[in-house]
Amino acid sequence: MENNMKDIVNLCQNRWFVYAGSEIYGWLANTWDYGPYGSQLKENIRNLWLKEFVQKRTDMVTLDAGILMNPQVWVASGHVGGFSDPLIDDKNTGERFRADKLLEDLIDSSDDAGEYLKEKYGVNSLIPEAWELAKQTEVMRGEQVKNPETGKPGDWTDAKKFNLMFQTSQWVTADSSSVIYMRPETAQGIFVNFANIARTSRKKIPFGVAQVGKAFRNEITPGNFIFRTREFEQMEIEYFCEPGTDMEIHKTWKNDCMKFLTQTLSISEDNLKLRDHDDDELSHYSNATTDIEFRFPFGWGELWGIASRTDFDLKAHMAQSKEDLSYFDPVNNKKYVPYVIEPSVGLTRLFLATICNAYTVEEVRTYLKLDPKIAPVKVWVLPIVKKLWEEAKKVYAQLSEDFVCEYDEVGSVGKRYARMDEIGTPFCVVIDSDNYDAGNITVRHRDSMEQEIVPIEQLNSYLTGKLK
Ligand code: ATP
Repeated sequence: MENNMKDIVNLCQNRWFVYAGSEIYGWLANTWDYGPYGSQLKENIRNLWLKEFVQKRTDMVTLDAGILMNPQVWVASGHVGGFSDPLIDDKNTGERFRADKLLEDLIDSSDDAGEYLKEKYGVNSLIPEAWELAKQTEVMRGEQVKNPETGKPGDWTDAKKFNLMFQTSQWVTADSSSVIYMRPETAQGIFVNFANIARTSRKKIPFGVAQVGKAFRNEITPGNFIFRTREFEQMEIEYFCEPGTDMEIHKTWKNDCMKFLTQTLSISEDNLKLRDHDDDELSHYSNATTDIEFRFPFGWGELWGIASRTDFDLKAHMAQSKEDLSYFDPVNNKKYVPYVIEPSVGLTRLFLATICNAYTVEEVRTYLKLDPKIAPVKVWVLPIVKKLWEEAKKVYAQLSEDFVCEYDEVGSVGKRYARMDEIGTPFCVVIDSDNYDAGNITVRHRDSMEQEIVPIEQLNSYLTGKLK
């Protein structure tokens, strides 16, 4: 993929996908707002995810839990004690970085860097995140790792843990308040509601709960446009199952998630890979985790984490809340605390992946080859000349019953095609008097640039067929 990140960011910003947040006040670093086409694209991805993983299945339900939760939730989940990244400062500039990420770059910098570090520093894994903080500091200093902003070796402080949760406070009385957190993931809302859902949904295990919503992490080094932001959206599933069935179900979810990416969103298989976590990378509660990585223009990055989390979360909430979250299985007549498989994907990160995947540069044009199902606008309605606007508006009214459309009468037809190609609109309908008078219309296809004559009265069903 020869995509250029700078061009993709430009296209997103100039074509109404993503704006810099609070731009008229000079931006709040790393915040982004989703514009008319961006918000539509994001909604289309979210709706397809809900369709595939909830609507089309009999074993899934949805939930919309709050962003603010009782702080004990985050004590039980381990976030208060342990949701942190290793932070390191360059004393020369005061800039902060994630030590593990700089060390990963060091390992990737040459074929034998990993083996050299193993031998010199006695580390037994090439996952710096798993190294002791003191070891991370020792290697950063020993190898005179460069500050990526200045390109010069940093004067590194000791690496230390930095908790990623955003804190805020809630008034309890007029003069006292208590600390609460903005949720760093949507998942815990599902765990704390497990008993409610099991009781009221009449679903029997195995069943899953899907949730889409905002999450907040005070990331040390956000960046790469919307890849890593402090406010983002997640689409998470907790799939509850009987202990012992977890490994098989984990495998099925890996396949289902891949299928969603390649078949529903038409992301190229060449841009995706599955990566199993090694034992020393696995979280202490997980018996298997696989990441689906996407080839972003800046390198491979995690897109979707599929973790088998055993009964860790439910048991942790049982211990903290003193509530019984076990499940009585009426089929096998036994009681147990379910295991859980968690496929978790960032909606905003997936948005970026779909745009990078679709960004196509050809000799004569640059366009977004988005799957028609997720394209923000499905049909552009163009009168060939302005005086046909009344006819064109009639066609617009007919099409907008079924599709998100755009009406455009400004500029040459060629320029208008270019505009619709750039935002990934799969179809253009062009109104000219001869065809219109004969009850027909010209449909122009984005990818092939071919044109077809279609009877106006069949236009909606023709396009519905093409969008399936
Ligand atoms: P990373 O290693 O990239 O920090 P993570 O392993 O901490 O991610 P998870 O906690 O597993 O991520 O979150 C699940 C998914 O949420 C990720 O696969 C990613 O798609 C998305 N995600 C996590 N953090 C961010 C962020 N700061 N900005 C955008 N998306 C995010």
